[in-house]
Amino acid sequence: MTSARERKPSGNRTASHFDTDRAAPGAALSHAMGHPAGIKALDPAALEALVADLGQPRYRAGQLATWLYQRSAESFAEMTDLPAPLRAEFAEKIALPQPEIGERLESSDGARKYLVRFADGVSVETVGLPDGDRLTVCYSTQAGCAMGCAFCATGQAGFTRNLGPGEMVDQVRLTGGDFGARVTNAVAMGQGEPFANYEAVLGALRFLNAPKTELGIGARHLTVSTCGIVAGIRRLAEEPEQFTLAVSLHSAVQATRDRLMPGVRGIPLPQLRQALVDYVAETNRRPTLEYALIDGINDSDSEIGALAAFCRGLLVHVNLIPVNPVPGSGFVRSSSERARAFVRALAAQGTEASIRVERGADIDAACGQLKQRFSSADS
Ligand code: SF4
Repeated sequence: MTSARERKPSGNRTASHFDTDRAAPGAALSHAMGHPAGIKALDPAALEALVADLGQPRYRAGQLATWLYQRSAESFAEMTDLPAPLRAEFAEKIALPQPEIGERLESSDGARKYLVRFADGVSVETVGLPDGDRLTVCYSTQAGCAMGCAFCATGQAGFTRNLGPGEMVDQVRLTGGDFGARVTNAVAMGQGEPFANYEAVLGALRFLNAPKTELGIGARHLTVSTCGIVAGIRRLAEEPEQFTLAVSLHSAVQATRDRLMPGVRGIPLPQLRQALVDYVAETNRRPTLEYALIDGINDSDSEIGALAAFCRGLLVHVNLIPVNPVPGSGFVRSSSERARAFVRALAAQGTEASIRVERGADIDAACGQLKQRFSSADS
């Protein structure tokens, strides 16, 4: 049987806000001028719209992206294969801000956690996880987060602003540079809900996935982790690239999930499950379900039964994560025996599950904890 995925013509990208066929003239330039990320607020389609508006051929957009994200240009003047008048016009109208690593902590297991600061003073967390030949970067998609997950330090601190696509790529680029290694995998699993900033996240994925470039990370090695925003899951299924989807579930009991994840209270579990069924049918890809194990909250036998029922007949991999203690939350991780009980129950019905090996516990690797630590130190 031919799947919808196989029938879809390759390279048929869904439209960005800045698709040159749809965007108003000057929209890309206005967007860059009005965003703290400047030129790094533009996705690949917006860079094309920008150069088209200035009467330049499309390949100039590729040259710009190469200077920004592979050669780490700090000024337009460095971009010597662009015409001098174009460089001057960019320099006059658009900011080219440089993020920097504000804080850097290294775990005894090799994981490194960074506080990346942007030019407007906003900072986010990024983590580098080396593992043999692999280097995985966990990057943030928003500064702060509006989802308010009960077990997350970022969620308790609230939302500041969306990041531009280039600000996400810069986190990956800076981490690769700090390790002196090529980044092989990148996961949008840091601060923020990626589907609340969909266009920018998709733009970052496309910069990171650009073939034959130093970044050039394979689509399957680029993961987006969502709280379960159904519209975003459906939209990602329509994208031509084979990006990987992870969904934070944390409970298959509605009342427990509503308590843990108030930001998605309005999305009933059957609706989320149906979106996953449709995603698998559309893409032939297996999403991951993330499940933070919290003692006495979501690890009872009835929670195990609900999770097993949710997964029955669904092509998913379940990632069980003993929760990192968050100061003030009162949450404590489940015992390894409870974690193993989940794995056994899921295996009994043919659902694969694994217990995630904890990394970086000695450097506050859980989302938001580094930022929280430095904010309290500053105050
Ligand atoms: S876990 Fe993720 S989505 Fe939830 S509050 Fe924290 S950053 Fe936001």
